[in-house]
Amino acid sequence: MSDELIIRAARDIAQAKKVVALTGAGMSVESGIAPFRGKGGIWEKYDPIEYAYIDTMRTNPGKCWILLSEMQKEILKASPNPGHLSLAELEKLGFLSSIITQNVDGLHHEAGNNNVIEFHGNHRVGYCMECGNRIKAEEISLETLPPHCDCGGVLRPDVVFFGEAIPHDALTRSNEDARSCNVMLVVGTSAEVQPAASLPGVARSSGATVIEINIEATSFTGHTSTYFIKGKSGEILPKIVDTLKNESANLTT
Ligand code: NAD
Ligand code: ZN
Repeated sequence: MSDELIIRAARDIAQAKKVVALTGAGMSVESGIAPFRGKGGIWEKYDPIEYAYIDTMRTNPGKCWILLSEMQKEILKASPNPGHLSLAELEKLGFLSSIITQNVDGLHHEAGNNNVIEFHGNHRVGYCMECGNRIKAEEISLETLPPHCDCGGVLRPDVVFFGEAIPHDALTRSNEDARSCNVMLVVGTSAEVQPAASLPGVARSSGATVIEINIEATSFTGHTSTYFIKGKSGEILPKIVDTLKNESANLTT
């Protein structure tokens, strides 16, 4: 990783009127939550079309819950890592306007960010597919799958399955933020899940600087991204925040 790129990112953030972050599963890998794709990814074990598709949830929820129960256990054990804490500090310092996250683990809120758009919902809450009763994930027993509500209906997490629409409000606000920001930080996302993957393109074509942070290049790299910082989000983001704090006088010119 190059120190020059860290300074460049800190300078771009310091000089921008509006900075937003788009985060993906890579952001939470250092908190112990497996990503979907890549090495150690959930999809090495489960085919998404079978296990995370809304039609399967309706016809064979026990199958979906094999994947969902693994995710639920990991999420309930996890806490924010230095990458999450750095984005919370960026917001507190007045540099970060919002986070659009594809993650369903709630770790940005837990780290202290207030303006978080949860594009794919939140796995820390579930609800009954019959009566709509809402329930905290820690109260959902995973002893027999699928878990049931007291009314006999099947419980599901409050996340967006493949085949389901993105909540209208999240989609509208995300597009608005992508269009109006001067800098978009794109952190730990493989750029493969639509429509979230279109947001960096919206930002770039509206004139924003798109700074990509990932352990490996993606289809954004060299095209949609203005520049790419290779490395773990839990290592790069703290360095950018430290530079912003220590060099603030030198970054605005
Ligand atoms: P993805 O799993 O498709 O890709 C993860 C990306 O993170 C990859 O590009 C990988 O190179 C990168 N990465 C891995 N470790 C990293 C690190 N330490 N620092 C920086 N980058 C790192 O993730 P996605 O693009 O977010 O899309 C998958 C979908 O899966 C999302 O829509 C989300 O809903 C869901 N998901 C969420 C969680 C979670 O909430 N933590 C976990 C798994 C999947
Ligand atoms: Zn019910």
